Amino acid sequence: MNTPSPEQAASREETFPPGTAYMDGRFCPLSEAKISILDWGFLRSDATYDVVHVWRRRFFRLEAHLDRFLSSVDKLRLRLPFGREGLRDILIECARRSGLDDAYVEMVCTRGRSPTFSRDPRDAVNRFIAFAIPFGWVADEDQRRRGLNLAIGTVTRIPPQSVDPTIKNYHSLDLVSGMFEAYERGADNVVLVNTRGDIAEGPGFNVFAVKDGALTTPEGGVLQGITRQTALELAAELALPAAEAPLSADALRGADEVFITSTAGGIMAVTRIDGAAIGDGRPGPVTERLTELYWEKHSDPAWTTPVE
Ligand code: PLP
Repeated sequence: MNTPSPEQAASREETFPPGTAYMDGRFCPLSEAKISILDWGFLRSDATYDVVHVWRRRFFRLEAHLDRFLSSVDKLRLRLPFGREGLRDILIECARRSGLDDAYVEMVCTRGRSPTFSRDPRDAVNRFIAFAIPFGWVADEDQRRRGLNLAIGTVTRIPPQSVDPTIKNYHSLDLVSGMFEAYERGADNVVLVNTRGDIAEGPGFNVFAVKDGALTTPEGGVLQGITRQTALELAAELALPAAEAPLSADALRGADEVFITSTAGGIMAVTRIDGAAIGDGRPGPVTERLTELYWEKHSDPAWTTPVE
């Protein structure tokens, strides 16, 4: 690949999505937010993050995302220069300044770097970054309408004994190689298995199977997705039985319905596994009812926080 000229580099800069960032104590346009290449977050994936979305200028389940992020920061022995209130204010201000109606608001805390270049992580000065960018979907419009074709990857998801998946992290080489494998096999996306061969999760989403009206989602070894939790709460509201339990690949293939859950799109139907139809090959009634309810909650003050 040729090295871009300064002019080409500058024009790439202009292709940044619109958005607002916060770093080093100030708000700036997204294109101006840059970190040192010596930051441990970049060199060692020593960082945690969270993503909350804004829909029609209201945050969805902001407090749940703050809980998860603050717990991840704690578990990694990172430190933020402010508390929960300060964090909430920065996220709201990022969303407000971005002017976006539907946005992704990401918060990141990296180990940072050590002023003395020490290799001891305790010497590093932690860094906090936040940004608001346009909302993006795990599945495109066509995939959402027809339902996704998911491949069950041959790569094993990083086990929880190695990296605690309840800490939202950027360790995703397993998921990315799984995505390439899925594309080569003609699928839209991938779901990885755990060390026991049971279903784990995919890049940016959790998985649910519906059988005889009851929901199952993998219990451990996965990120405790906020949308996963939301789907469990919505199922309770609809009086549908739901369990967090091991889910085998065969149980997934033999389900009546399958769906994924993600901040990047909510509840989305899966209608094929490795090309084979789930049920009649169309998004099923339970998935559709949950999806409808999920979007209804986006205007409910109990589940949302206004940007203004
Ligand atoms: N699993 C992984 C590995 C993820 O990265 C994500 C979100 O990015 C999810 C599941 C879904 O979590 P949430 O519903 O909180 O977006």
